Amino acid sequence: MSEIKKTEAVVLSKLNYGDSSLIVTLFTKEQGKISAIVKGARSPKSKTSLKIDPLNYIEIVYYNKESRDLQIISSADLMEYYPSIKSDLDKLKFAQSVLELVKNLTVEHEQHVRLFNGIIRIFELLETSNERLNVIFARFFMFFLEEIGYRVHLVDCSVCGKKDLLDKNLSYNFAVGLLCEDCKTNYAESFALNQELFNCLVSLRTSKNLDDIGSQTVDNTLIFMEKYLKYHVADFKGIQSLQLFK
Ligand SMILES: [Zn+2]
Repeated sequence: MSEIKKTEAVVLSKLNYGDSSLIVTLFTKEQGKISAIVKGARSPKSKTSLKIDPLNYIEIVYYNKESRDLQIISSADLMEYYPSIKSDLDKLKFAQSVLELVKNLTVEHEQHVRLFNGIIRIFELLETSNERLNVIFARFFMFFLEEIGYRVHLVDCSVCGKKDLLDKNLSYNFAVGLLCEDCKTNYAESFALNQELFNCLVSLRTSKNLDDIGSQTVDNTLIFMEKYLKYHVADFKGIQSLQLFK
């Protein structure tokens, strides 16, 4: 037996299927990531196809049966479609990077409301905020790593426990963690964290204003987090939507 459910969702991707149907991957508030089919969505009479577009924030009614690979969507309502993001290639690049991370690194049918709310929040910020786009995305990336269970160690030295590491030139070993100036000589360096880079990484966890930090340093936090994630998740090949890393 399938049950009828209603949930808010973000569209991660869509694919044409058969003559008139769509197969979509969604990140839902109720059940995390799901795959679903929308029958007849591409027929001329249907308005559903336009609503179910990547990035859109929608509310769906669907028939759910977890033993089935594809759930069946019966209707969709549009909550927000982010016109400013869609008309700006730089904003779109970061928004697509969010979709890519969520699609590739979350598990199906696992509710994760904090992550869902975080996705809606970053889309709102990309849509309306005046903060630099790479800062907005870097804050999300730091949050995302923690939410999927790969919190970056930034509080104290992983070897000797020394705190107060701001304004020091540190090192990160992906297997061991953060290394202070004394301990770093004993371990291979996965990534060098100069003062500004380390301070920036720490600030990404707070609401601290990052206006005085150079854009290159913010980009370097993205490169650091991407390498860190590659180390921990063998299948992860990097964020394809970001030209930055090529
Ligand atoms: Zn140490």
